[in-house]
Amino acid sequence: MSFPTTQRYSSELLKNMWELSHIFFHMPINKTKWYAWRHIHTLPQSIARHWQLRELRFQLRQAYSNVPFYRQLLDKKGVHPDDVRSFDDIQKLPIINKGLMRKVPVSELVNKTLPLWAYNWTETSGSTGEPFRFPTSRPFYFYKHFGCPKRIARYYRLLSVGAIHTRTRTADVYVDRFLLWRGFSFGHISRKFRFADIRTVNRPRGRHFLHVPVSDVREHPTAVIEKLTKFQPDVVSGRVTTLIELAQRMNEFGTAPLNIPFITSVGEMTTEAQKNYLAKAFGAEVYDRYGLEELGDVAIECREHNGMHIHEESDIVEIVDDRDSPVSPGAPGRVVVTNLCNYSVPFIRYDTGDRGKILPGKCPCGIPARRLIIYGRLGAFLEVGGKKYQFPEFAAIVASFSDIILRSQVVKLPDNTIELRIIPARKVSEKDIQLITETFKKQLSLTPRIILVEKIPFNASGKTQFLRDEGRPI
Ligand SMILES: [Zn+2]
Repeated sequence: MSFPTTQRYSSELLKNMWELSHIFFHMPINKTKWYAWRHIHTLPQSIARHWQLRELRFQLRQAYSNVPFYRQLLDKKGVHPDDVRSFDDIQKLPIINKGLMRKVPVSELVNKTLPLWAYNWTETSGSTGEPFRFPTSRPFYFYKHFGCPKRIARYYRLLSVGAIHTRTRTADVYVDRFLLWRGFSFGHISRKFRFADIRTVNRPRGRHFLHVPVSDVREHPTAVIEKLTKFQPDVVSGRVTTLIELAQRMNEFGTAPLNIPFITSVGEMTTEAQKNYLAKAFGAEVYDRYGLEELGDVAIECREHNGMHIHEESDIVEIVDDRDSPVSPGAPGRVVVTNLCNYSVPFIRYDTGDRGKILPGKCPCGIPARRLIIYGRLGAFLEVGGKKYQFPEFAAIVASFSDIILRSQVVKLPDNTIELRIIPARKVSEKDIQLITETFKKQLSLTPRIILVEKIPFNASGKTQFLRDEGRPI
């Protein structure tokens, strides 16, 4: 895998100092724009469209100049950024996806005006079990996750004289913007609210934030309950299956009810029954949130709980049919997202792989931002020995062996054991097998049998069923 070296771009870097600073501090330096950014989703759709077109044109122009992938793509299609003059002109642009991005060297996906140290690597496995490894720039990484280790925060704070710090707090509030819609003030949320995140990877955000590893919910549920009771979060974010698991444990142990006012469910759409279950167990109101590892947060529910309002200031969301034509509101199709903030690794008309629809009409809550419904994100899991192991936990391990594993499938066999079927990316040694087994053992307390195969069947939609339960009676 080739990657631009710092040396190679050092002269270019100097030439593009203005551009660089613009890319780094695009959002924080311009206060008027920042103010507008914060309010776009509350303004009429016509204004949101105007904003999106302006941002899209800027994003396109800079991607065309700085990111070889987009230059080649647009040249091939015979489209120039200046050809996008109206909002509908977005349809002139090609739709991209993970598969297409995987095919090109990574050096062509990144903004060449940024130096090597500006990039981090993030992986997403998706439901196919094929990892997609993509770069994110540190500044964007910072924006996207709205938090970072203290030393990086200090570094950026020095550079931007506090602007980014303020923005981080702002962004924190805007991810959970339903709180603003509920009537809490910005100051109150950023000063008083406490957030807990149940997820595999820790993204530290400061003292108001608690990270609970997903594995702890399964392995040490009592400790998790104690931790949460002590921390008293106002908002807990996690996958609905994990939260239900936690609620079940609390029931089993007869623990005093844990009072959590708000839960945001990520990565999976919750069913009505699940929402009711959590409402009963925690006294919480559950809000669905939609986002992707590569794009960040895209939409969140309001208190009507009927579709998720799109973050119109940051993303353009389109629903298209199989011929890439837009469908009318209410009709289902593929969810295609353009991120307007990420200048380092732009995602322009990115096919998320999810199916969904835009709800027609206005939301009774009064927020004009369009509402998105996502289908087919009900979380998969395997139950082994009475414990639930979730899709992302397996996926994270498989992704960490992306140099060995081309495609894979985790199968639960009738004898209640786990088998990992692998189509290898290269010759696999005994040592590799041992390493994978040990990682499973360490992270999930499972010892899978690893077998190398030539084929893993696809399902009807062309995807590998990453988790397969062969133990269930048919
Ligand atoms: Zn609403």
